Amino acid sequence: MSDEKPVACVIGAGIGGIAAALRLRARGFSVTVIEKSESPGGKIAELRHNGYRFDMGPSLFTMPLLVDELFGLFNKRLADYLGVVSLPVTCRYHFADGHSIKAWSDKVRFLDELAGCNVSREAVESYLEKQAFLYTHTADFFLFNSIHKPSTYIGPAGQKSLKALHRLDAFTTMHRRNTRTFGQSNLVQLFDRYATYNGSNPYRAPATLNMIAHLEHNTGAYFPKDGMFGIVNALMRLAHEEGVQFVFNTAVTGLVTSGRKITGVRTADCTLPASVVVNNTDITLFYRDILPRKSRFNKLMKRERSSSALIFYWGMKLSSPLDVHNILFSDDYKAEFEGLFDTKRFADDLTVYIFISNKVVDADAPEGCENWFVMVNAPENCGQDWEDEVYRARLLIVKKIERMLHIDVEKHIEFEHVLTPEAIEERTGSVNGSIYGHSSNSPLSAFMRHPNFSREFSNLFFTGGSVHPGGGIPLCLASAKIVDGLIDGLRL
Ligand SMILES: Cc1cc2nc3c(=O)[nH]c(=O)nc-3n(C[C@H](O)[C@H](O)[C@H](O)COP(=O)(O)OP(=O)(O)OC[C@H]3O[C@@H](n4cnc5c(N)ncnc54)[C@H](O)[C@@H]3O)c2cc1C
Repeated sequence: MSDEKPVACVIGAGIGGIAAALRLRARGFSVTVIEKSESPGGKIAELRHNGYRFDMGPSLFTMPLLVDELFGLFNKRLADYLGVVSLPVTCRYHFADGHSIKAWSDKVRFLDELAGCNVSREAVESYLEKQAFLYTHTADFFLFNSIHKPSTYIGPAGQKSLKALHRLDAFTTMHRRNTRTFGQSNLVQLFDRYATYNGSNPYRAPATLNMIAHLEHNTGAYFPKDGMFGIVNALMRLAHEEGVQFVFNTAVTGLVTSGRKITGVRTADCTLPASVVVNNTDITLFYRDILPRKSRFNKLMKRERSSSALIFYWGMKLSSPLDVHNILFSDDYKAEFEGLFDTKRFADDLTVYIFISNKVVDADAPEGCENWFVMVNAPENCGQDWEDEVYRARLLIVKKIERMLHIDVEKHIEFEHVLTPEAIEERTGSVNGSIYGHSSNSPLSAFMRHPNFSREFSNLFFTGGSVHPGGGIPLCLASAKIVDGLIDGLRL
């Protein structure tokens, strides 16, 4: 590369950082990504032990098109780097009353499956149509543009959303809407659960978020043939081929500024000059550790955070009849969310998520064994005694699996690793171990998220799960896309 190319520096190699780096590279920047830890991926990580491989973070993959788009920037195709399969069953749900539902990707099969659920086929069909409507009337505005720029409101995306405002369900909650639609049916709990996809509370989050269900039920659930970490590997291969530079084991400690511009990025060892800087680290800690701004840091610290997770990675010597994604619901969902957001303690019954990647990726467990990722939603870390909480939650989980699936798990566990909210905080640098940054529990949450640009410095931008539009792989990729659009209009 010629030295005359403008230089961009990305802080953090999470999925949002890698995506932003690729987008800047496609614009002709010379790009360096500086990452504190020894490897890329941030919250998307993997664990290997004695023939077992576990995805430690994300397990659900929707909207692979957004990953493919990054390859398209270089006239390449994701398919040539990573196989992705469409899952016939997006999730298998088990309810406290003994019923179970297979959520088939195929809509007709899914509707057939709901025959015993005490709801009419038409009600479910029109609900899913409504979710599609919500998505198509909000995505461009809320997900793929900066809602912090007045121009977005007068542009086509803003106008489309504003015109449909009265139909966007912003002023009722997910739970209320789902109860009104499905009455006493188990489908209320099934669809309420989508609030957890961005760590929020269905009893408080706006019903607009019911559109999350659209992504699985109308567009499909996918899984990479190399596991979720395969997404990071594929993007890193592309980044290396295209000349993006990575520096690992190096924390950014500050920025060099001149007037309204950032001119460089500081680490313990050196200063890198930069004409554009994109931050991918947790926005709250950014204002403490990288660009100290006490009042902004304090303000961000006070806002409610999304939930965290407690995960047991179990190497299991058994062959179970389970699917890739399985949910064992609690009998009191409301109490569970009160525990997550109010008392900040586990409830007495927990919804348990079991994800088994070797149902798709044979190599993820030894012959005759399975790699169980067993997760419960957990409150953010606010100093709880995690040893105690883990002990209690583990007992509840083991008993619940025995009760609902008739599997005596203790007999089959030959490897165990535990990830607590405290460890998530330490490993991934997200405040209090919240997975998705600030919570999305109010109609204004989307607008309160930090913008993708700085009002103080014209060449400083933000990507990743703690800024607009939020957490989760698709939204982090969307944030990088927004940054790309903002840089388009930048005069260097
Ligand atoms: C247990 C769990 C389950 C999840 N499940 C799903 C799921 O099923 N589906 C889904 O879509 N999403 C899921 N998510 C959320 C998803 O993983 C995240 O939203 C996404 O990966 C966050 O990416 P990011 O771009 O914000 O960067 P992060 O992953 O937060 O990475 C930020 C990077 O910045 C680095 N960094 C921090 N400080 C510095 C510094 N000073 N200098 C340099 N580098 C620094 C960190 O080391 C880290 O690598 C899950 C997350 C977790 C933890």
